[in-house]
Amino acid sequence: MIAEILTPVALDQTYSYHVPDGLALAEGDVVRVPFGPRETAGVVWELREGAGGANLKSVAGLLDAPRLSPALRRFVDWVARYTLAPRGAVLRMALRLPDADRPERIQTGVRIAGPPPARLTPARARVLAAAEGGLVHAKRALAEAAGVSASVIDGLVDEGALEAVGIAPPPIAPRPDPAHRHASLEPGQAAAAASLVADVAARAFSVTLLEGVTGSGKTEVYFEAVAEAVRQGRQSLILMPEIALTGQFLERFERRFGVRPAEWHSGVAGRRRERTFAALASGEALVVAGARSALFLPYRDLGLIVVDEEHEAAYKQDDGVHYHARDMAVVRGQAEAAPVVLASATPSVETRVNAQRGRYKHLRLESRFGGRAMPRLEAIDMRVEGPPRGRWLSPRLIAEMRATLERGEQTLLYLNRRGYAPLTLCRACGHRFQCPNCTAWLVEHRFRRALVCHHCGHVERRPETCPECGAADSLTACGPGVERLAEEVAELFPGFRALVLSSDFPGGTERLRREMEAVAQGEFAIVIGTQLVAKGHNFPFLSLVGVVDADLGLASGDPRAAERTFQILQQVTGRAGRGDAPGRALLQSFQPGHPVLRALLSGDSERFYAEEIRLRQAAGLPPFGRLAALVVSAADRAAAESWARGLARVAEPPPEVMVLGPAEAPIAVVRGRHRFRLLVKTPREFDMQTWLRQWLIRAPKLTGNTRVIVDVDPMSF
Ligand code: ADP
Ligand code: ZN
Repeated sequence: MIAEILTPVALDQTYSYHVPDGLALAEGDVVRVPFGPRETAGVVWELREGAGGANLKSVAGLLDAPRLSPALRRFVDWVARYTLAPRGAVLRMALRLPDADRPERIQTGVRIAGPPPARLTPARARVLAAAEGGLVHAKRALAEAAGVSASVIDGLVDEGALEAVGIAPPPIAPRPDPAHRHASLEPGQAAAAASLVADVAARAFSVTLLEGVTGSGKTEVYFEAVAEAVRQGRQSLILMPEIALTGQFLERFERRFGVRPAEWHSGVAGRRRERTFAALASGEALVVAGARSALFLPYRDLGLIVVDEEHEAAYKQDDGVHYHARDMAVVRGQAEAAPVVLASATPSVETRVNAQRGRYKHLRLESRFGGRAMPRLEAIDMRVEGPPRGRWLSPRLIAEMRATLERGEQTLLYLNRRGYAPLTLCRACGHRFQCPNCTAWLVEHRFRRALVCHHCGHVERRPETCPECGAADSLTACGPGVERLAEEVAELFPGFRALVLSSDFPGGTERLRREMEAVAQGEFAIVIGTQLVAKGHNFPFLSLVGVVDADLGLASGDPRAAERTFQILQQVTGRAGRGDAPGRALLQSFQPGHPVLRALLSGDSERFYAEEIRLRQAAGLPPFGRLAALVVSAADRAAAESWARGLARVAEPPPEVMVLGPAEAPIAVVRGRHRFRLLVKTPREFDMQTWLRQWLIRAPKLTGNTRVIVDVDPMSF
């Protein structure tokens, strides 16, 4: 037999190996193979009859890792073909290899085994008293309870008073109980849930858009689909854009199902990650809430995929394999013959069009759960009602905040700008602080006393004097960031607790989760946040949202700017009024007549979508046409540009394909690399991938550090 082996490195092809007699292999098995001078892991992609040449190397042995199912292998092939990434690079996301060097760490426990020892010190007596009952106690917990060091316990074990026993770690994901607490759904919810439950019961591929305004109870609805999958003993994957922050979600799941789901994201590390992987491969874990990488796990029997907040840009992976997790979720669902649910209050234009054309089912929840009203939205025209210079909150917003505080309710000020000020300049000479590695201004972070590049992370100290002209006290912060807003809030509302929440939050994810929880408990009067707080969270005491700069984001030249601004503002204003108090949102804008703001203020999202879809269709943009971006970069500007031009010269596009550029990328230099971009636009029915692949074969040879990245379905274009 010959085995075609795919290795988890950035190569597309498989390699042939001889299968030695006595080694029973199946397709999908994870094996060791000789590879150059070393050995590497690989997956049996295909087995076929044959003798092979004399110099064919042999498979060295089987590894103790779960076999990749045919569906998962098809999925890897599909993702690679679609994204133009090497198959091995996609495989790497699906593979976790057993770590032979790391033995399983079993916690030790102890229990009473014999009579007390002859020498009974007070410390020993305390341990024995605490270990009373004959139960197994974790060693560390027992030492803590008795106020002794672990060596006291070891001594008691040595003398036979206690015996050591292994404690198995708690299960990664105990079985959810679909009947733990039945939600009593409202009629609209019940109808939607029934449709999803029927899809899960059908055990066939389907895609459903579950659209409903913020607070309409979409989560409760798709929980019913999860419950049905659990009843069947099949697995559910719930994808979330920012899973590390969704402690609230886990609690909600626990209230409904009695246990928490397994989790899969970058915060799950080490032994826990391995055990989660194994539990999903064996089918022991039935539900996992995960980040986009959870799409590549080797599920034993996947019966449902939910993509929560399907419109989120965070689903697009922008390094390594460039894939969109929402789109690939649909592909995985197809490979597994499982239904896919896309949930959102503000679906992407792509998904909306698919629903309109009947490719996806469309379920809608028209109103908020429990008869709660949608927040009332109003614009504040900053041209006439704006604050004085150097201030960012208008008098009307301040008055509204004051009234909110007096009622004991919370305000959220939304400004999607980290740090203190987006630009720092010298009033004497006009010097601006620029990143040495990127085409970007440095952003002042006052808490850290630093100037920071938001593209490459470059940090430098903020000087006291201007480095250009030497003037003292001339450096001026221009424009607001969340930190600067916090200063204004502290001046206006002394004595009220305010909290700044952005991805700069010190102390990492765990602390951030705790602070979000504190906000939900009503502990802060005012929250000042970036897009981090805009989504998904339920803050029951929050009744007022102030959008500090509703124009931010509309100005960019990106054709997706309107859609993205509409979505984020809809989400953030939707935080208001989810509890008992009615919600209100004030949007500060210099252009309150802008179509995006008009659509928001009138609550007419149908009109917004209709207009947006019309524009996309007229321009042949996704989903009516296909796009790919080719980004050429090099340390040397001329090298990047000339290679990109050489690439463009051999494009030879057929008449229906448009190749635009090369043009300098919107941020021309990042991390010291100059970037040029080519855009490819084709009709929807055109096989773009095949054509791109043929083009790249004709490309000039890459020299030096010149690199090219292919991004199919780019998020910005
Ligand atoms: P969405 O995801 O659509 O924004 P959620 O699912 O978060 O909405 O629901 C909003 C709020 O309403 C949550 O606090 C949720 O617990 C509550 N809720 C929704 N449906 C029900 C229900 N059937 N029974 C009880 N509470 C519900
Ligand atoms: Zn930089």
